[in-house]
Amino acid sequence: MNGFALSIYLSFFAAALFIRNFLQLKQYGGWVLHLNTVLAAYWFVGVSVLLLHGPVRWVELMEVMALFSCIAALVTSIWLWFKGNKSARYFTVAWTGLIVLTFAAVLMMEGVLPHGPVTENGQLIGFVLEMLLLSLALAERINRVQREREEAQAEALQLQVMMNLERDEKLAAQGAMLQLQGQTNRELEDRVQERTQELERTMTNLEIANRELAKLSVTDPLTKVHNRRYFDETLQRELERSMRTGQPVSLILVDIDHFKQFNDRYGHLVGDDCLRLVASTLDQVMVRGTDLLARYGGEEFAIVMPDTSLEDAYRVAEKLRGKVQGLQFIYKGERIPVSASLGVAGQVAAPGDKVEDLIAAADKALYQAKDQGRNRSVRAEGA
Ligand code: GH3
Ligand code: MG
Ligand code: MG
Repeated sequence: MNGFALSIYLSFFAAALFIRNFLQLKQYGGWVLHLNTVLAAYWFVGVSVLLLHGPVRWVELMEVMALFSCIAALVTSIWLWFKGNKSARYFTVAWTGLIVLTFAAVLMMEGVLPHGPVTENGQLIGFVLEMLLLSLALAERINRVQREREEAQAEALQLQVMMNLERDEKLAAQGAMLQLQGQTNRELEDRVQERTQELERTMTNLEIANRELAKLSVTDPLTKVHNRRYFDETLQRELERSMRTGQPVSLILVDIDHFKQFNDRYGHLVGDDCLRLVASTLDQVMVRGTDLLARYGGEEFAIVMPDTSLEDAYRVAEKLRGKVQGLQFIYKGERIPVSASLGVAGQVAAPGDKVEDLIAAADKALYQAKDQGRNRSVRAEGA
């Protein structure tokens, strides 16, 4: 009797655990799970008591609980079938078949139903049927899981493809942006370079203009030799240098003879031409780069000669005079004679000497040259 009870308790405990796992009760929770837990616990306690303690006297309770467990399993299975559990469908059919055939066997034993192959082997058939259906359910579940896994893989693959596409698009956009940025930078650099070149050109032009202006401010517009202002500055500077170095500085004043008559006879424009010719002639004769030729005023020129003694200056003056005298100034096919008188002064400047003194000395010598009959050079005395 104890062995029979133990097998019943073990069977129902195993069945409870099977239902719990096969129908995935933990996924659903709620009353189906609680009911299963309570029944499994009951059958487990029964097994434990039978093993540890030995036979007990609540066989009636076992029969009631067995019936209750069968009904509970059926109700649970039908409930889950309605909830969409596919395994529950197979289980319901198998379980119902087993119960019906077991019941038929019991009724046969009680004499209610006649003996026959179905009633005699009812429970066995029921078990076979149950095995078959549950195997089907398992196969179906395996297929489903396999299908779901494949679907998940396909979905993951599709997701991956989409992500790749998105990444490619992003990369393309980035590339386009970089290209645009590069182009903008290049354009900007070009513009900056253009502006810089423009600025450089402007600066160069400005420099040229400044040099031109500076030259203009020291140049006589008619004869293109230096003007009076530059002459004054240069003479002052050279006088001071002579004081420092102890080297002589000389000055030649050149005055064209009878130029008033020249103008009166040929007109001022021809007079201007003559002034230009005399200026360029004087300029050519002066070979030393340090010498300075300037238009002193009217028809007078001045030559500042640094590091030059009075005697040397006089020799230059005579040479200049000779050149002017030899000029071929042709007007209307006729050579017009031109001559000049020159006054030369030169000295080593001493502290306190003034430019006016040197000019006055040269001027005085020039007047002497005029007095002595013009077309000659005269040295200042005791300068
Ligand atoms: P001298 O031999 O004594 O020097 O007599 P001169 O006639 O040369 O001297 P004067 O000072 O009497 O006359 C100078 C003349 O030079 C007067 C003026 O008409 C002329 N002259 C001065 N500047 C210019 C100029 O820029 N162009 C022209 N064509 N003539 C000028
Ligand atoms: Mg004069
Ligand atoms: Mg004159």
